[in-house]
Amino acid sequence: MDFDDTPQEAAFRREARSWLENNAARLGDGERASSVAEFRKRPDAIERSKAWTAKKADGKWACIGWPVEHGGRGASRIESVIWEQEEAKFPTPPNMFTIGQGMLGPTIMVHGTDAQKSRYLGPMLRADEVWCQLFSEPAAGSDLAGLATRAVRDGDDWIVNGQKIWTSGAQYCDYGMLLTRTNPENPKHSGITYFIVDMRSPGIEVRPIRQMSGASGFNEVFFSDLRVPDSNRVGQVDEGWRGALTTLMNERQTLSGGGVGPGFDELFELSRTVRRSGRVAIEDDAVRARLADIYVRQKGVQFTRYRSLSALSRGGTPGPESSIGKIVSAPLRQQMASFALDLLGVAGGIVDADAMPIGASFSEAYLASPGGRIAGGTDEVLRNIVAERVLGLPAEPRLDKGVPFSKIPTGPRS
Ligand SMILES: Cc1cc2nc3c(=O)[nH]c(=O)nc-3n(C[C@H](O)[C@H](O)[C@H](O)COP(=O)(O)OP(=O)(O)OC[C@H]3O[C@@H](n4cnc5c(N)ncnc54)[C@H](O)[C@@H]3O)c2cc1C
Repeated sequence: MDFDDTPQEAAFRREARSWLENNAARLGDGERASSVAEFRKRPDAIERSKAWTAKKADGKWACIGWPVEHGGRGASRIESVIWEQEEAKFPTPPNMFTIGQGMLGPTIMVHGTDAQKSRYLGPMLRADEVWCQLFSEPAAGSDLAGLATRAVRDGDDWIVNGQKIWTSGAQYCDYGMLLTRTNPENPKHSGITYFIVDMRSPGIEVRPIRQMSGASGFNEVFFSDLRVPDSNRVGQVDEGWRGALTTLMNERQTLSGGGVGPGFDELFELSRTVRRSGRVAIEDDAVRARLADIYVRQKGVQFTRYRSLSALSRGGTPGPESSIGKIVSAPLRQQMASFALDLLGVAGGIVDADAMPIGASFSEAYLASPGGRIAGGTDEVLRNIVAERVLGLPAEPRLDKGVPFSKIPTGPRS
């Protein structure tokens, strides 16, 4: 493991920091103390995040990992990490467009036509157009290839019927990337076709889902005779699983931290200020033992991440072992938030950043943390990946292998 920047990385870091010092957008006083989830609930959150992204695009600091021909810098993975580290030191609006920029854009680059690349990538990079991922369905999440939303060819168009769920941001998105079933007589992975859809087309209904935090981060999306032109197809007919794998590979890298929110430093600070049974919480041996346990595990995650960054710096590529970080960090975030709420007592129930910034950030983190253990691969699915691809244990039995999708036993399908 190597903690130091190479001379080139140090020069890149200086350049990034210098631009940020001159250009970084500022949040208002105290806003940094509230969580990203809290920021997202503000009515002007999208506009502020868009404005900051456009400014970064002007300075060539948006999507720096994208190739130069598509508006990026062709930055290496380690340079992208350095940029993220430097940007995180400034109180800028959080990026609300990572699904498009981190996952869908790279898929269009690999599988899209030249016309699709030149039409869509530029506005996606500047966040002039915002994108959502229309993959999961009520009966197809971890087993994504079991999706049932149907697309049938009709002249130069496709007619789509079905339902997606968990679609983050669909209510404010301009475009979505959609996986559909086009050939139910093929085995499930080989009858899927991938499309770009205009979210304002007739035939799309978006229904926000209200979450326990009060926010509506994701939605149900219904398609009723939606017409999608064949020119919006990404990749070959029935071969959309290739594109899906590209998106999912990028998703694992984009969501590798298992969510954002207050960390150990904030928890430590809380335990030095909040009082329990007439004394400051950190004076309690049980609190100190719990803090020590969390600190050790948090350091384990951090050093595992440094180890993969060192490998990246030497030219390696992220492998299935990067799943380990999320397996540990997503539950750890939940445990930290839960412990913070224990320390706060009844005040832990306040989810109002203006009334109680630090408490609200832990409450938000607590309410968002179950989602962090599901999005981008559930705990169990990630454990399967580590078991099969890192430890070389036998694969799970797959009873539907080679069976036509239409013959896989299931409940009634719409
Ligand atoms: C915050 C959030 C945002 C999301 N945003 C999007 C989005 O924008 N677009 C989108 O398309 N999807 C999105 N998703 C959906 C996400 O990809 C799915 O929720 C996830 O893949 C799990 O699928 P599922 O919910 O259908 O659960 P299931 O797959 O039904 O899993 C249910 C339970 O069974 C377990 N399980 C499943 N298979 C196995 C197995 N083989 N071995 C052991 N255990 C197993 C799971 O771990 C889980 O505990 C989002 C989810 C969340 C939480």
